[in-house]
Amino acid sequence: MNAVPDCAVTADRATAPTAPTAPTARTERGQREVFCGLTGIVWLHRKIQDAFFLVVGSRTCAHLIQSAAGVMIFAEPRFATAILDERDLAGLADANAELDRAVARLLERRPDIRLLFLVGSCPSEVIKLDLARAATRLSVIHSPTVRVRHYSGSGIETTFTQGEDACLASLVPSLPVEDTDAASLLVVGALPDVVEDQFDRVLAAMGIGPVRFLPPRRSTELPPVGPNTRFLLAQPFLADTARALAARGARHLPATFPFGAEGTTEWLRAAAREWRVSPERFEAVTAPARARATRALARYRAQLEGKRVFFMPDSQLEVPLARVLSRELGMELVEVGTPFLHRQHLAAELERLPPGTAIVEGQDVERQLDRVRAARPDVTVCGLGLANPLEAEGLTTKWSIELVFTPIHGYEQAGDLAELFARPLVRRVRLAV
Ligand code: SF4
Repeated sequence: MNAVPDCAVTADRATAPTAPTAPTARTERGQREVFCGLTGIVWLHRKIQDAFFLVVGSRTCAHLIQSAAGVMIFAEPRFATAILDERDLAGLADANAELDRAVARLLERRPDIRLLFLVGSCPSEVIKLDLARAATRLSVIHSPTVRVRHYSGSGIETTFTQGEDACLASLVPSLPVEDTDAASLLVVGALPDVVEDQFDRVLAAMGIGPVRFLPPRRSTELPPVGPNTRFLLAQPFLADTARALAARGARHLPATFPFGAEGTTEWLRAAAREWRVSPERFEAVTAPARARATRALARYRAQLEGKRVFFMPDSQLEVPLARVLSRELGMELVEVGTPFLHRQHLAAELERLPPGTAIVEGQDVERQLDRVRAARPDVTVCGLGLANPLEAEGLTTKWSIELVFTPIHGYEQAGDLAELFARPLVRRVRLAV
């Protein structure tokens, strides 16, 4: 056991309030246990309906995507892997020429594709295959029918939600220039269509708009961007995308993330403040859904209150979810691990965590497992690779990847979010009977 690691310690100075009890974060470096950014294809290919993701990688990459996304039997998949074989890796074949041929074959067979992402991987990075140049070259060849963009999903020094960030950031230069002086709101982050529609309705009821979403449902609906664009982040892992939007003149509206009743309210309030919506109108529009969310959360509070939760660093959703679990469901935070801590984007989250919350940025998996075993939390939120061994040791786990696949944003999904944490506890009780 190593309850107090001798890792580097940094104070969370940038954004948290200066109160002496404000949560502090320390960094930890060592072996990591996370999925790579290719995983994002699993939800992104469902969102952008005319896009195709071509991973330029190895058989390992192909297996990862296929097992994560499931094999589609009835539908034409919108992702594939162009496999780099030994000849490519040894530099004996012209990988660029082979890639051009593979793309030509793909586009001939799939005339519905309008946006093609070349997705880099560890092997393509190791052989230094220049996918930026390949995307430019292929865009010229297949223009105007198909746009070709590229990003990296490589697992070297990344975590799985960074795939979405890299994908969206690669789209920002293609966004049209806004051509009006009126302010518009851009909601950034892949959301299930049903959640997007809910936010659209609430924002419209407050007179906020036009509201657009990145990514759009179709590549032909890329939202315009410019100095009159204000943007709300729907996910906490979009640092590069936010930076790219700011470089195009758009302005970020800082807020909590829209999880739980409180987080959703404060997220909506950030837009309402910008559009000068009166407090009465804000209240009238949000109160009914907020009450539904509060009631839905209350149903799970009895099961979750006082239970101890430990977050291993994985999805980058850890800090906002810890806030919901502690403030709205009464859970005790043993440790909140997160692969990266974007102090600016998470400022409103960090200041809502209980004083003294242990926040750990980065990972040294063995030490973190030692702390899990010592603390024996009621629920450990972790990646798939760690869940089975911990379950075998009698610990209850929640797969963090499920939190990305399941609709959990907004008022109407607050109960589903709570249920995701209650379910493994119920299962454990049933197994024990
Ligand atoms: S990109 Fe790297 S980490 Fe991801 S599946 Fe391929 S080889 Fe593995």
